[in-house]
Amino acid sequence: MADISIKFPDGKVQSFAEGTTPEDVAKSISISLAKKAVAAKYNGDLVDYLTPLKGDGEIEIVTKSDADGLVVLRNTAAALLRIALKKDFPGIRLGAASAEDDGFYVDTDKDDQQVSADELDALAVVIEKLAKDKLAIKRIALSKDDALAQAKDDPFTTDLIKAVAGDQVPFLQIGDYQVLSDGAQLANTGDVKHFKLLSVAGAYWQGKSSNPMLQRIYGTVFFKDGELKDDLAKRQEARERDHRVIGNQLDLFFVDPKVGAGLPYWMPNGATIRRTIERYIIDKEVANGYQHVYTPVLANLDLYKQSGHWAHYREDMFPPMDMGDGEMLELRPMNCPSHIQIYNHHIRSYRELPLRIAELGMMHRYEKSGALSGLQRVREMTLNDGHTFVAPDQIQDEFKRILNLMVQVYADFDINDYTFRLSYRDPKNTEKYFDDDEMWNKAQHMLKGAMDDLGLDYVEAEGEAAFYGPKLDVQTKTAMGNEETLSTIQLDFMLPERFDLHYIGADGEEHRPVMIHRGLVSTMERFTAYLTEIYKGAFPTWLAPKQVTIIPVSEEKHGAYADKLAAEMKAADIRVNVDKRGEKMGYLIRDAQTHKIPYTLVVGEQEMANDSVSVRKYGEDDAVSMSSDAFMKEILADIASYSRE
Ligand code: ATP
Ligand code: ZN
Repeated sequence: MADISIKFPDGKVQSFAEGTTPEDVAKSISISLAKKAVAAKYNGDLVDYLTPLKGDGEIEIVTKSDADGLVVLRNTAAALLRIALKKDFPGIRLGAASAEDDGFYVDTDKDDQQVSADELDALAVVIEKLAKDKLAIKRIALSKDDALAQAKDDPFTTDLIKAVAGDQVPFLQIGDYQVLSDGAQLANTGDVKHFKLLSVAGAYWQGKSSNPMLQRIYGTVFFKDGELKDDLAKRQEARERDHRVIGNQLDLFFVDPKVGAGLPYWMPNGATIRRTIERYIIDKEVANGYQHVYTPVLANLDLYKQSGHWAHYREDMFPPMDMGDGEMLELRPMNCPSHIQIYNHHIRSYRELPLRIAELGMMHRYEKSGALSGLQRVREMTLNDGHTFVAPDQIQDEFKRILNLMVQVYADFDINDYTFRLSYRDPKNTEKYFDDDEMWNKAQHMLKGAMDDLGLDYVEAEGEAAFYGPKLDVQTKTAMGNEETLSTIQLDFMLPERFDLHYIGADGEEHRPVMIHRGLVSTMERFTAYLTEIYKGAFPTWLAPKQVTIIPVSEEKHGAYADKLAAEMKAADIRVNVDKRGEKMGYLIRDAQTHKIPYTLVVGEQEMANDSVSVRKYGEDDAVSMSSDAFMKEILADIASYSRE
């Protein structure tokens, strides 16, 4: 038999008999390595622990503590889940199974029905038994005909088999079961001990929305129980923060794919939060020298041809509407061209600069359907947008002023966890970016200089700039751990050229202004999603959709007193309601807590007699008694403490 020659990471080369497996190689190194080893990387590919290595190659032994070790464990867990599904639901159709970054899944089609939570538990019991039996995992190959015959009632598995190149279809023999292979496998089932089947969610067959919807069962698995517990705790925390979950619980918004993906509807509670943010930011900007305007979401396509959006940003734009009379109208993807029209409507003097135009500007972007997420990433959005037009020697000052304003706004919303990113163009991508080296270099230099002057830390990212200029992005993290841009300040020498903007200088001559694009609190959509996650739905009083709920002990006896208090609060612009559902007191108090209402007041005989209220703050166990005047003072101070002018 011919030998194979295997190279180790330290460069040593050794000869092994043909048919050698990663297990044999690990054992030849040391018994302790063989104990931890679960698979190998051979010539860069992750391979089974017990399958013979093919040909010469470079090996890395993969152990339980490597990231790849976890991938192999997930592959085996997915294979066991397939077996369990076949066992519990004969006739079930199975799609893809796979290890993901954070777990594993199997796609199923159980006559369009979801696998229920109870059924998930039953599947887990089957997997536990398979693990306990420590069944050897052997790789076998079936001929295509045999494999297709086995899958004859399952159109999805049939498709998977047909997609295999050649006539040999890789399967696994695990005990009495044969399963279609899913990536590199452990030596036996014994390590699939610390796992949990998490949830079921819809997933299109092969990720295409024109294909049938299957049910994807997700699970997570680790080598150690402690790791599983940590992972489950992290998932729970993320779920508690997920704005889509909270948005539903607190009735803030919904997205109905029947109406349109990425087109959210704001329910009264969400709309109240949004209105509060909008009023806050408009007041703040007006106080800081911005002039607020309203401009249309639609414009002639020519405007976006002139701005360069049509050439460089078309992929993100909705197709134009052909009005049939030669006019093409376009839904704007950005507000910049609109604010340029405002600038250009008058002859501008250097005395007006910096000229700050702002708008809560609605825009539309055709984001990929897979990227859409609740309010986080949508297709119709309203940006807290602003463009300041400055003389070239005002750039640095204005940049610092904007940054300063941003920091104040963040403090008001109690946002502390963010990082700065300087986003540059990718000089090789001339499709996406205006092709003018000198302008880019100048603009990138200026931004970096301003950040260095301010002594702020930042990371640099090539290829993240807007097509017209570099930007400073403020990066935050979502509950699910993804990085997202919240605020942005962008320097632009291009659009003033393209639209031939000028101002009359002190010398009486025409000069070219520079534009700074900026979004302080991002879009209303993304900002609301972000706040929902950082506050876990317990909005500070000034933002809370409902600030106070008053529960009369008996509606008949104390309802009028509760109404009187509510009327006084309403007159002071406090968002209050009287809960007259007449349910048990304990239930009503719990319900107010579930809805994360900052103050729950209970009023009964005693309160009515001495004009007082019994106050329970959100998250606190005990109620405190105080005069109704004292309560009014407290809540008004609470509301004012967040919205600092
Ligand atoms: P991203 O990289 O997040 O797609 P962008 O760089 O294309 O954003 P800008 O053109 O700078 O975005 O838009 C300004 C701000 O609008 C972004 O910083 C972001 O906070 C927000 N935003 C952008 N796209 C969306 C979207 N699809 N849904 C919600 N908010 C968005
Ligand atoms: Zn802009």
